[in-house]
Amino acid sequence: MKLNYIAFAIPFFASFMLLEYYISKRKNRNVHHFNESVANLNVGIVERITDLLTTGTFYFIFSWLNANFSIFSIESSATTWILLFFATDLVWYWYHRLGHTVNVFWATHIVHHQSDDFNYTAAARITVFQAVARGLFWCVLPIIGFKAEMITVLLLIHGTYPFFTHTQLVGKLGWLEYIIVTPSHHRVHHSSNPEYLDKNYGDMLIIWDKFFGTYIEETTEPQYGLTKSLESYSFLWQHFHYVLELTVAFRMAKTFRKKLNVIFGGPNDIDERIRVLLERKFSNKTVDIQYSKKLINAIISKTIITMGVLFFTILFSEYITASVMFLLAGFIVLSVIVTGAMLEQKKWIFHLEFLRIGIVSYVVLSFFPNLLLLSVIVLLGIVGVLFYQTIHSKYQDFLFSA
Ligand SMILES: [Zn+2]
Ligand SMILES: [Zn+2]
Repeated sequence: MKLNYIAFAIPFFASFMLLEYYISKRKNRNVHHFNESVANLNVGIVERITDLLTTGTFYFIFSWLNANFSIFSIESSATTWILLFFATDLVWYWYHRLGHTVNVFWATHIVHHQSDDFNYTAAARITVFQAVARGLFWCVLPIIGFKAEMITVLLLIHGTYPFFTHTQLVGKLGWLEYIIVTPSHHRVHHSSNPEYLDKNYGDMLIIWDKFFGTYIEETTEPQYGLTKSLESYSFLWQHFHYVLELTVAFRMAKTFRKKLNVIFGGPNDIDERIRVLLERKFSNKTVDIQYSKKLINAIISKTIITMGVLFFTILFSEYITASVMFLLAGFIVLSVIVTGAMLEQKKWIFHLEFLRIGIVSYVVLSFFPNLLLLSVIVLLGIVGVLFYQTIHSKYQDFLFSA
């Protein structure tokens, strides 16, 4: 049986998140907020499923670039592995630095910085757009001459290490602070204290920040999150608010030069009033909502189920047909949109729930084609459509009443 062992990254990282939660509670350190943690996990869940597609695509692109455009032919040896490690970390530094200073890249990276919490769940907050931007930067490596197989191994290492720098529970690490990126360095990077802005971009080695002048030591208590907090847990709004802001700014720019500046300039060049305008139209700020116990339990159980579906989808990805994979990915994306919207108590959740049940029924039927099962599902579907309004209001009462 050909299993995709990347799936085990999910229980691996999840167990460290639980451990961090447990330790923080024991130490009486309040480093988690329920809504922030759910929103963070939601972003990570979708990135994991979309990664199935991008990782394979980039492996193909790296191999193609290496076969056709490589400057050197680099074979695997101890020296070349060390060289590749330094090369990937340097490329990462610039990919990350430009991710903060060039709008088109900031649009892909901003989601990672939206959480006002700083813990292991925030490490999961990576989008597929960010993964694509990173992959584009890494294209320089096969052109230099490194093989796709070697690059993929390094991608795995770079995908694992930074998870552990997202914590407030680990203090300074002595002499290691001079060499590697530590939680202390990355706390600075995630904070919005004026003196800490645009600092400590390194992924595994802190030497690049020291060399290029972007290093700063953690001396005062960091304030986490964006300089202007998003105050929204909507999955869609988190992903696309900056793209919308750029689109409006692009339209408003009068000259070609100014339009180019919207794309390639920095975040400071974008008029802050655009966000306010868009928020009024598309988003309502929802940080202060009190959640009922029922709603919290519903969100937790949905998140666990979604992570389970994600785990098995990745584990058995070799055996899943393209159409079922598409549906499962759709189910996962809909599920996180639903839990994000539950945090904001949106009324349209039920329509998505109905769609989710439809997908589950189709997938179950495709695995177990059975006439009796089909009849039951069709019957339940008819009942669901006939009593749609009643079930809708009952569902809403259940979730949102105290
Ligand atoms: Zn960053
Ligand atoms: Zn980070």
